[in-house]
Amino acid sequence: MMTTMTTTATRSKNGKPTITFSKLVDKLQQHYGAPAPPPSTDPLELIIWENIAYLANDRRRAEAFATLKRSIGTRPEQILAAKHSALAAIGKAGILPDVSAEKLLAIAKIAYEEFDSDLRSVLKKPSPEAKKALKRFPSIGDPGAEKILLLTRSYPLMALDSNGLRVLCRVGFAEEQKNYSATYRSVQNAIHGQLLGDYDSLIRAHQVLRQHGQELCKRSKPRCSECPVRDSCNYNGRV
Ligand code: SF4
Repeated sequence: MMTTMTTTATRSKNGKPTITFSKLVDKLQQHYGAPAPPPSTDPLELIIWENIAYLANDRRRAEAFATLKRSIGTRPEQILAAKHSALAAIGKAGILPDVSAEKLLAIAKIAYEEFDSDLRSVLKKPSPEAKKALKRFPSIGDPGAEKILLLTRSYPLMALDSNGLRVLCRVGFAEEQKNYSATYRSVQNAIHGQLLGDYDSLIRAHQVLRQHGQELCKRSKPRCSECPVRDSCNYNGRV
């Protein structure tokens, strides 16, 4: 379980953040408003969401997901009974529709054969076992598995997607490491003592950090002059 939120601002020098995690999230929410809810709270649907349309933005991904639900369904048996061409047509929301169709079929096969089409029971296992099971699916590594555990309210983890991770590195919570996984753990360690452990706070933080990374703190050419936390960011002015 996460520990109590700290309230003091951190150092401004040596590359450390000048803002606490909670203040950062609050300021971002003031700017963007209440974050959008997650696309689903069902573990299989969250896995499908990740894989349905390669490199599609959220709007196109949501359209593809809605089409799948409406025309085929998201149960493993329904996906396995679908034509490859029908799944690929949905995957056209992204750049590799055939690959997306293969992934959807692989997801359905794994869910059907290895988990009896029931991923909810997997989430009741101890966290390492649950993560290991979720990582059986395409495109799901440790960060993806933690995201599913958070959004399904199975474990109160501060999961971060790549957008949120980028924001926190730039603000100064951790240095970017040689590989993504090391950066991810470094940021999680840096914010661990500042987290509230309740699901609503963690999910809100996940969603608003993601939104900020998508809209202003973009990978290339972040729009720092419009950013509500620019005065607290170590990266502002370096671009
Ligand atoms: S000031 Fe720029 S780099 Fe820093 S959080 Fe805002 S958009 Fe990102």
